[in-house]
Amino acid sequence: MGGRGTDQGVQGASKTGPNRARREVRPEGTRITVGRVEIGGPGFVVMAGPCAVEDAEQTEQSAAAVAAAGAHVLRGGAFKPRTSPYAFQGLGEPGLHLLAEAGRRHGLPLISEVMDTAQIPLLMEYSDILQVGARNMQNFSLLRALGKVRKPVLVKRGLAATIEEWLLAAEYVLDGGNEQVLLCERGIRTFETAMRNTLDLAAVTYVKQRSHLPVIVDPSHATGHPGLVVPMSLAAAAAGADGLLVEVHPWPERALCDGAQALTPERFQDLMNRLPAVLGAVDRFLWKDSPVPAVGTR
Ligand code: PEP
Ligand code: MN
Repeated sequence: MGGRGTDQGVQGASKTGPNRARREVRPEGTRITVGRVEIGGPGFVVMAGPCAVEDAEQTEQSAAAVAAAGAHVLRGGAFKPRTSPYAFQGLGEPGLHLLAEAGRRHGLPLISEVMDTAQIPLLMEYSDILQVGARNMQNFSLLRALGKVRKPVLVKRGLAATIEEWLLAAEYVLDGGNEQVLLCERGIRTFETAMRNTLDLAAVTYVKQRSHLPVIVDPSHATGHPGLVVPMSLAAAAAGADGLLVEVHPWPERALCDGAQALTPERFQDLMNRLPAVLGAVDRFLWKDSPVPAVGTR
């Protein structure tokens, strides 16, 4: 196992297992297709929407706004892991239904969180990507069960997880036979209290270099401040991330969950306008169905 600061091999390398996440397994990188969107190739993918599905109107307005701005995947939690048992826990299956309807209307595939093995069949029915939340990153029975599904699984980094622990969480899913795993850096706990978490952007570059799995950045939970979400999204693109998972709400001040960090539709549009310049500087582009015009067709 790699020691602190080692430049050899992969953090998460296990001497007793195959270490399926390491870059050498697939040097060209893993590409995951969701609907018509490809994640992990040169195209940069933006997943956006509310923290939680609240009602039909909020879901429709969120989907309409992110689709109009050019997002590729619609996010929205129906099962919410809340710190307090008295906080809004999500709508459950009716929420998944609202999300699916909105996704269909706006042509967007979905990402939504699965909190428990018992919820897997429902999420398989409604969602295109199954999200494992930060609090569940070491729920090993959930990870093992997700190794058996045949849909992409996004593994968020735990609140205080090392890179090695995060990669080993992904390893559980890979070891079960599911090769469609995405990693998501969403900020970690440090001594710093000015922001909700500390966005570990070096971890993004580090993991991209050492693993073949696509890496997504969630600047919303990572910072907790809408004013930091756009700059950190641009920084994530420059750091080599394959995409973003961003919270957007049509009326953040009325949100039932995480309104304080949500982008308004206007701010989200601003982010989408700014991304191409940064992506161009690192030889990437915002994902489009036909991103590269054929040579000689003009
Ligand atoms: C979320 O994305 O809705 C969420 C709960 O995030 P995290 O698990 O990173 O806290
Ligand atoms: Mn949230």
